[in-house]
Amino acid sequence: MLNIVLFGPPEAGKGTQATKLLEKYQLIHLSTGDILRAELTAKTPLGLEAKGFMDKGELVSDSVVIGMIENKIDANAGAKGFIFDGFPRTNTQAQALDSMLRKKGTPINLMLSLEVDDEELIKRLLLRGKDSGRADDQNQSIIENRIKVYNKDTAPVIDFYEDQHKYRSINGIGSIDEIFDRLCKAIDSVK
Ligand code: AMP
Repeated sequence: MLNIVLFGPPEAGKGTQATKLLEKYQLIHLSTGDILRAELTAKTPLGLEAKGFMDKGELVSDSVVIGMIENKIDANAGAKGFIFDGFPRTNTQAQALDSMLRKKGTPINLMLSLEVDDEELIKRLLLRGKDSGRADDQNQSIIENRIKVYNKDTAPVIDFYEDQHKYRSINGIGSIDEIFDRLCKAIDSVK
């Protein structure tokens, strides 16, 4: 199995690259943001609870997202591997993912972190806001809060994977294909 954490701040390009990677390596894409938005559209109790946090650019509680990921892993028992996108976003989530995967004997192989500076991120997020229709992409102060939350709560997850020698920093600036090549080289070096 090949289990990859695709990491990086909002609008670093994780979704775009995840789509290309899952095609090439035949992996299942697990994006907690996508799962939460689907819950929201379906107006489930979970989606309605998450909405308040998502609209403000705050994190949804660890127990909710951990439970969601556990269900998805169990539902895809025959998978060749997973790309985790937007998860884990806290050290608690990283520890929970580790113990889930350890039980299954298929640990994370690599954590690929797309590096893009804050100024470029805000530019990209505001641009996306014009056509994504996402409420959390429309407003500069919500966008800035998402980046602040990333730097405070999420960036420390790098240390968790660095301690396990699984962290790789990937330059997230360039064309989609250039960035994809960098990611593939890192993956192929551990396969
Ligand atoms: P994303 O599409 O990954 O940018 O996620 C959109 C929003 O969903 C985030 O701003 C959070 O409110 C929520 N969210 C997504 N993934 C997580 C996670 N792993 N932990 C907590 N909240 C999350």
